[in-house]
Order: sequence, then C-alpha cells, then structure tokens
Amino acid sequence: MENTLDRLKKWVAESNNIVFFGGAGVSTESGIPDFRGEQGIYNTLSEYGVSPETILSHTFFENNKEVFFDYCRKHLVFPQAKPNAAHYGLARLEAEGKLKAVITQNIDNLHQKAGSRNVLELHGTLYRNYCTVCGKRFDMDYVLNSKGIPHCDSCGGVVRPDVVLYEESLDMDTMEMAVKYISKADILIIGGTSLAVYPAAGLINYYKGDKLVLINKSSTAMDSRADLVIHMNIGQVFDKILG
Ligand SMILES: [Zn+2]
Repeated sequence: MENTLDRLKKWVAESNNIVFFGGAGVSTESGIPDFRGEQGIYNTLSEYGVSPETILSHTFFENNKEVFFDYCRKHLVFPQAKPNAAHYGLARLEAEGKLKAVITQNIDNLHQKAGSRNVLELHGTLYRNYCTVCGKRFDMDYVLNSKGIPHCDSCGGVVRPDVVLYEESLDMDTMEMAVKYISKADILIIGGTSLAVYPAAGLINYYKGDKLVLINKSSTAMDSRADLVIHMNIGQVFDKILG
C-alpha cells in the first residue's frame, strides 16, 4: 500500500491538471450516511414503507410532498456535518493551481464548505431551493424552518430543492462541463463511489490519460481499468499524500 500511495503522491506533486470525481463515500467520513447503504434503506423502509429511491423520485415528490419533505428533513439534510481531510485536501490542491475541478454526486455542499470553488454538482444541491411557480430562490434554512410542505413567500408556490430526483434528467450544462474537464485531465482521481450509479460509469470513458486513480474502501467493477487502485478511506489517503 505504501508504494501505491507514494506513486499517487508523486503524480499529484508533478501535475497541474488533476480532476476529482467523487461519490457518497467522500461524505460518509463526515458522518453523512449513504441513503443507498444498508442502514439508509432499512431506516426508510421501516419508517415509510418504501425505499429511499422511491421517495426521492419525481413521481413520489409530485404525489406525496409531505412525506418527501419529512424524509429530507430527517434523513437527507445534515447541517452540522463538517468537511473531512479529503474535502480539505481537494480545496488545497485547487488553491495551489493543481486541481481544475471537483465533480460530485453528493448534494451536501461539503466541498464548498472546505473551500473548493469549481464544484460541478451532477445531482444538484440541497442548499439551493426554488419556487416551482415563480422561480424565486431560497436557502436550505427556509425549507428546514418551514413546517410540512414549504411554500414561496411571494406567490405561495411549492418550494423544492434543486436536486435531481430519480426520473429527472441531469443538467446538461453541468454534464458537458464534467465531460470537458475529464477529457482534458492529466490525472483523474475517482473516490468514494462504487461506479455502479449512472452517470459515473459513463463519465470515465471520456478520460484519455494514463493516470486513472480509484480510491474506494471496497473493490469496484472498474478496478481493472484503473492505473492505480487504493482500497482505503479517502480521508486517510489525502492525509497521507498531502500531510
Ligand atoms: Zn413563488
């Protein structure tokens, strides 16, 4: 493992065109559970009788807004969560001009909290909310502090988080930017994702370099394609290579 970390450390030291692509595993070390994980599914099934994927779908949102917002407030939003070593390490690499973009599937704002500026949020963010009628913007506190279904204080329309629900399409501009950064990257570091969920698997195909790094606690279906595979906690990895 030491040799692998040494190699990554050397690559990172030599590059000024690193792109990071991250999934839920980046945030679990900050205490945010993966809603697709066993515990998340178990909790949701026992409390609501349906899976997290069902609740976080467009159809469910349209038909069961009370339950949707109850689930969001109780199980999806973690205002106390703090960035970990991976978030801070990535922000530092960007500040040093070495990292071009963070592409994330997470909706928790932790990269920005750590100081990252160029963050492409493929699935949107819970920290932006908007009125579905007039488009007025609201912060997360507005939703957290309202009871039941949050309504717009201007027009009374329903306010919803700017996240991509199941059955909804990804923002094409964000996707195009992600493809652009990945296709030009010198090093692509992928962390905290099993690469099973769309669009992660597809995005890798745009990478043309020879330094594809995969950091995940357990092995993934893409391990054989990577130039470097590290099965460790991602925070630990950043501690070792930047500490
Ligand atoms: Zn409105």
